[in-house]
Amino acid sequence: MSRPDVMIFVPPRDKAMAQLEAAYTLHRLDQADDRAAFLQEHGPRCTGVVTNGHAALTRADLEHLPNLEIVACSSAGFESIDDAALRDRGIALTNSSDALCDDVADVALLLTLACRRQLVPAHAYVKTGDWGRDGMFPLLSSIKGKKAGILGLGTIGQAIADRLEPLKVELGYTARSVKPVAYQYFENATALAAWSDILIVVVPGGPETEGMINASVLNALGPTGTLINVARGSVVDEAALIAALSDGRLGSAGLDVYMNEPNPDPALTGLPNVTLYPHHASGTVETRDAMAQTVVDNLAAHYAGNPLVTPVFGRSGRAS
Ligand code: NAP
Repeated sequence: MSRPDVMIFVPPRDKAMAQLEAAYTLHRLDQADDRAAFLQEHGPRCTGVVTNGHAALTRADLEHLPNLEIVACSSAGFESIDDAALRDRGIALTNSSDALCDDVADVALLLTLACRRQLVPAHAYVKTGDWGRDGMFPLLSSIKGKKAGILGLGTIGQAIADRLEPLKVELGYTARSVKPVAYQYFENATALAAWSDILIVVVPGGPETEGMINASVLNALGPTGTLINVARGSVVDEAALIAALSDGRLGSAGLDVYMNEPNPDPALTGLPNVTLYPHHASGTVETRDAMAQTVVDNLAAHYAGNPLVTPVFGRSGRAS
């Protein structure tokens, strides 16, 4: 049987790449000098694409991929991929949400505790000798008994809820649909923020959620509130966030993602009430390997005619 032709938009980690090289004829768009010419020449024979959620895959690109059957995305988010165009063409899409949800949830918890217990200022307090000079660090507020609102109760949102529950935090959420869970449901982000002490953002990026965390939501969260963002920088109106943190309308923020990565706005990073992480919530060897392996496993399942391992949707456009 001939080897399927697969186009590499973004290569996965080496171990996964070696498996792809062994099984398929690969076309390295990632190494092409002229993207458009490469797509035009090699696109028509490719039935698979390997990419991640940061590389564009547009409806126009798909015109050069007339025989495409599957897009295997090594990240969880896929807002750079025109998923509506894939559905229209009956092309399957897979992602890696299951592989990374635990690590991302760990970082959401890490940022929550670091903000609420002021880990970064407390660390500096010990290091600089301020403790010896000025005495006891100010008293803070317990996490136990606080209300945490999760904006987006999907794979990662649920993993975050699972970590917060043992800390005796009260949980609420909003999503596009009501879930069969015991946590309180809120109609929208503002209502959730008004109820929450801690608002954790974990919805997909893209036009639908752009600027969802605006000045009204931040005002509703309030001066003792904490915003945690492990979703995408685009979900938060960053100018509104800087203003709210600067003038005391919002207590603190723990951020893994930013508008301008990898050079976030110094007006944000210079604030004393932020805890910052470099878009690295899934950044462990184990998880990055597992994410890459989902690409290999989904392509193998597809070409063997087996059910996809981690589908966003199958060729029918439905999760399968
Ligand atoms: P998921 O399973 O698809 O869950 C997304 C959740 O967001 C769902 O509950 C969904 O509601 C909700 N949602 C979507 N659009 C919404 C809207 N307009 N208003 C309210 N809720 C909305 O996705 P996931 O795997 O948990 O990942 C979520 C996002 O996290 C990814 O898309 C990615 O952007 C981000 N992420 C970041 C990192 C990082 O390194 N920081 C790593 C991985 C993922 P329904 O369930 O009702 O549809």
